[in-house]
Amino acid sequence: MSIQLSDILKDKQTIALGGHIRPDGDCVGSCMGLYMYLKEQYPNLETDVYLEEVPKAYQMIEKTDEVKHQIPADKQYDLFICLDCGDEKRLGFSAPLFSRAKQTLCIDHHVSNEAFADENYIVPDASSTSELVFRMIDSAKISRPVAEALYMGIAHDTGVFQYSCTSPETMEAAAELMRKGIDGNDIIDRTYYEKTYVQIQILGRALLESILILDKQCIVSVVDKKELEFYGADSSDLEGIVSQLRQTKGVEVAMFMYELESSQFKVSLRSKGKVDVSVIAKYFGGGGHARAAGFSMHGSSHDVINNVSRQIALQLDADN
Ligand code: 5GP
Ligand code: MN
Repeated sequence: MSIQLSDILKDKQTIALGGHIRPDGDCVGSCMGLYMYLKEQYPNLETDVYLEEVPKAYQMIEKTDEVKHQIPADKQYDLFICLDCGDEKRLGFSAPLFSRAKQTLCIDHHVSNEAFADENYIVPDASSTSELVFRMIDSAKISRPVAEALYMGIAHDTGVFQYSCTSPETMEAAAELMRKGIDGNDIIDRTYYEKTYVQIQILGRALLESILILDKQCIVSVVDKKELEFYGADSSDLEGIVSQLRQTKGVEVAMFMYELESSQFKVSLRSKGKVDVSVIAKYFGGGGHARAAGFSMHGSSHDVINNVSRQIALQLDADN
């Protein structure tokens, strides 16, 4: 059962949309898809979209130049719609707008979602938040730019329609979006596969320096702050490294971590199915899905690897 957009918008004049910090393809796709749809179909509403940043590759999506990166001092929106975000803290700079809003709605597919809004539309087995936005809106009224944004989001969170979260409904949504005249291959090439030289170099380094632990069932790679500076890379240049690591034959879990600031690491986990990494991420204060999850953690890289691998080992042992 989907929720009705017309019910949600009843008696509302001002709407803010927001996603999580370090937004990924699904976060940008779902926010921009819904933003453009509201602008087109409800021109009398005042609608704004707030995102920490829009990574360069995703700027091919229309209207990303209208995204706001700062919040107004004391504006109170009638409704704040939070997309692809599992907890209030992860909204980052837009969190004060969320808590100030007269009403809040969360649309998300993270199993770890804390249902922290007034109304929550959480479907953990949906491929992506972009697919949930597709289900909420009138498909006959979807324009090409809206279709491009939602298609990008679905393609990203399904690993280009490969991950197990890709359902018949996902493919039906993608088919309907394709009929809106989008160039799906171009969107996938430019936002998912294409990498800058810096991204290629850091990917190569991460693969080369990776190690196998837990009887070769887990692959780990670390990039520290000095290396990021050496390559001139930032966090958005590291997307996709962990999925490459996960492809290693015989490995059950891939773990990629990079230094956010001195002795604080952002950890990404990917599983082939035996281990539920959302449980591990949640244990360390993060979240995500059974096969893809993440969190931040203080300590030396050595400590982080030790602590996380202990949790992975517990699940692997229980499975054997
Ligand atoms: P990634 O490893 O690509 O950063 O994230 C994988 C999945 O875990 C995504 O669905 C992402 O939203 C979620 N995730 C990653 N880091 C965090 C975190 O620190 N907190 C929460 N709640 N979810 C996270
Ligand atoms: Mn998502």
